[in-house]
Amino acid sequence: MKKVFCIGELLIDFVAEKQGNDLSRATHFTKKAGGAPANVACAISKLGGKSIFLGCVGDDPFGQFLLGVLKTEGVDVSMAQLSKTFTTLAFVSLAEDGERDFVFSRGADKELEYDPTLRKSLKGNILHLGAATALLGGSLEKAYGKYLFDGLTKDMFISFDPNFRSDLWKENEEQFIKKCMPFIEKSHLCKFSLEEAQLLSGKDDVNQACDFFHKMGAKIITVTLGKEGTLLSLTDSKKLIPSIEVSPVDTTGAGDAFIGCLLYQISDLGNFDPVFQDCDVLEKMVVMANKAGAITTTNYGAIPSLPTKEQLEK
Ligand code: ATP
Repeated sequence: MKKVFCIGELLIDFVAEKQGNDLSRATHFTKKAGGAPANVACAISKLGGKSIFLGCVGDDPFGQFLLGVLKTEGVDVSMAQLSKTFTTLAFVSLAEDGERDFVFSRGADKELEYDPTLRKSLKGNILHLGAATALLGGSLEKAYGKYLFDGLTKDMFISFDPNFRSDLWKENEEQFIKKCMPFIEKSHLCKFSLEEAQLLSGKDDVNQACDFFHKMGAKIITVTLGKEGTLLSLTDSKKLIPSIEVSPVDTTGAGDAFIGCLLYQISDLGNFDPVFQDCDVLEKMVVMANKAGAITTTNYGAIPSLPTKEQLEK
């Protein structure tokens, strides 16, 4: 089994308890572990895979809490870094109009330093670059560029999820698009939501968007479409793979469950070639990954809702 290195942010989400209040009126918040790459690492280890989380948290109680959550889920956090800067915090509430009210206090996640000694362990494994905050700057952004380069030279399978958050890129969408391009060009697998596929390609039609990415160099593309399932696009074929019917209560983390489950299955392939494009194999994997996404929506919170292998096989 290959190891999956998930690189990026791990942060505290303070979620307002009484939804319907904007942040100016919210009084009580629940502390939760958050960060897309950390969720993906948990999704993989809950399924029985080997995930390693590489990110930076503050050397403070919040940082300890976060690393503890990942450890409990079976993620290897021995390469995580600690900083004197406070752990990154996000405050979230749903206002009366259903809009998300969001305040973000960026701290230690940006300080992840590139670690050249890791190059040896990366060889022949899987690299997942899926941080919502990585392209916002800091040494984390520099590390992303360097790990991408290492991935290319170390015979790795590279996966990219842009995790676009409109709250973080309000006036700077063009910059976000530009920064994503090298990752789309070089990765073996790109996971987009419909909104991301449209934003990054400038095309409304999802098929045209995928063709645009393939022309840039993208190989395997998955566009997740909520309850409609996932569009799997390879350079010579496209297929919409339906999801399963569930009664969702909270869709947080569905995308992370999806990509985590896909990467877990890729990590479990015997002799895998980083440029494989086997349509039948990938279709079966997406069917499973859709299930993982769907199951995650049936409970509250991201990490607690990620399925185990037994739940997935039921
Ligand atoms: P995120 O907001 O976590 O980044 P995303 O937009 O990337 O999520 P979604 O499309 O919401 O991802 O969900 C990922 C996958 O989970 C979908 O492709 C689908 O297979 C499954 N899924 C999500 N929502 C539902 C639902 N309501 N019913 C069934 N399956 C769902």
